[in-house]
Amino acid sequence: MHTTYIGLGSNLGDSRQILCRVVAQLATLGAISVSKLYSTPPMGPQDQPDYLNAVVELKTTLTPLALLDTLQDFEQQSGRVRLRHWGERTLDLDVLWYDGQNIEHERLTVPHIGLLDRDFVLLPLLDLNPKMIVHGQVLSDLSIVKHTQLQPIATADWAK
Ligand code: ATP
Ligand code: MG
Ligand code: MG
Repeated sequence: MHTTYIGLGSNLGDSRQILCRVVAQLATLGAISVSKLYSTPPMGPQDQPDYLNAVVELKTTLTPLALLDTLQDFEQQSGRVRLRHWGERTLDLDVLWYDGQNIEHERLTVPHIGLLDRDFVLLPLLDLNPKMIVHGQVLSDLSIVKHTQLQPIATADWAK
């Protein structure tokens, strides 16, 4: 059994409903825990709506690439279209972490490349694992975590 953390984001359509649906889909892959829910300003182009973000911890037998395939299926099922880099989308599912493995594959970099730089990933990860260490870095010690303005908009039961 493998422990993995999946980053969820949406800023098009009924984002809350889209994220609730994908949490239910992730639960078909193994046991899950869900972070609080965050509303966060967009990265990249600023002329797009705020995102809803959360993280799910999943215990699964899927290999990293099989997991990525499944997550990309879920993205497509949400009707995902990608208009521009870091632009608006109905659903983004990123493999943030997988058993502490370092993976360098043409389709998959794990830990996720932006993990240490993004408060909208770090805060929900810390909800699930307050002592988490990535690339030797204690996440709770990062200055971005200490100085973030992000606040959860819902407790961890938002997807129930
Ligand atoms: P970012 O990765 O900076 O958050 P993004 O999520 O908007 O940007 P996508 O358009 O969702 O990027 O994904 C582009 C490609 O990234 C995918 O086709 C996938 O193969 C690749 N990729 C590499 N590493 C990962 C990962 N850890 N999780 C998900 N996709 C990844
Ligand atoms: Mg992403
Ligand atoms: Mg992505």
